[in-house]
Amino acid sequence: MARREAFLEGAQSAARLHERLDVRAEVEARAGSIDVFGAIIALGTPLIFRPLEGLLGACIPGPGVIISTERPLPIQRFTGAHELGHIALGHTFSLDGEEILTRMGHNSGQARTPDIEVAADSFASAFLLPKWLLQMHARRQGWNRASMSDPRAVYQLSLRAGASYRATCIALERHDIIDAKTRDALLATTPRSIKAELLDGLAVENFFPDVWLLTERDEGSTLEGQPDDLFVLRLAEQGGAGYLWTTEGLVDSGFAILRDRRDIPPPEQAIGGPVTRALTARRGEPARGRFALELRRPWIKAGAPLSALRVAYDLHGKEVGLPRVKRRDLRLAA
Ligand SMILES: [Zn+2]
Repeated sequence: MARREAFLEGAQSAARLHERLDVRAEVEARAGSIDVFGAIIALGTPLIFRPLEGLLGACIPGPGVIISTERPLPIQRFTGAHELGHIALGHTFSLDGEEILTRMGHNSGQARTPDIEVAADSFASAFLLPKWLLQMHARRQGWNRASMSDPRAVYQLSLRAGASYRATCIALERHDIIDAKTRDALLATTPRSIKAELLDGLAVENFFPDVWLLTERDEGSTLEGQPDDLFVLRLAEQGGAGYLWTTEGLVDSGFAILRDRRDIPPPEQAIGGPVTRALTARRGEPARGRFALELRRPWIKAGAPLSALRVAYDLHGKEVGLPRVKRRDLRLAA
């Protein structure tokens, strides 16, 4: 089989499985990421997360899919999508290491990659990061094709798609949304520098946690992250008319507000114009829940707010042991 055929076979198989499992409608309803582990379970394949040395994942007849607990959730999800590809494509056995994260597609010149690995890689990217998912998040955020050469937008896209920054850059090029040169320019920027810019001098212990930038455009979305992730909320406030964002919703949901300030436009801009309320918050422990912030006049508690930001979150981070979706089925602690 030619490499190009293997690549196409993987992508087509991913699209067929999306249809079979009705993935798109479910993801659009939540405005979140694709449930890779749920898909593995839906195909009747046992799935478990264990410490693995020198491997990210494996697909073994009998035991099923094993994914390493040594890497963060986005890598576990990508590994899961790769192993799901082996299953969907009828491959019987595979042991996969770091190499699955660095291959860039059929035209990348890595000629010695076996065809079944080319197909599983192609499946993984197409299943986890299909074009329609990237377009859905771009539409919600008001991003266009040009925005996708901005590392800050691509990083935020990667968080919403539940993939690494690197995998997202590669997928954008595979879908011809950016060219190879733009992909390489994006990959030359580290998420660390983007995180530091967002935190704007706020002291953190290290830059491993992700930093989400949330605005009114995230209304109704589902965020899946790690316990230590930081959330920078930038919300337009109309203090002149008496409308302020309430923050009780964050605190009631267990978040600590690390910084709360207002960015007031300079006087030469419209007086009484919108002020940006900039909040930085962190949950700090594994948790699932929701929070709602509302733009309203503080002295009027009743009635519909002028605007709202309501999100669902799952900050359990990486998976260990049985998949969480399975534990919920078994009614054990999530
Ligand atoms: Zn493989």
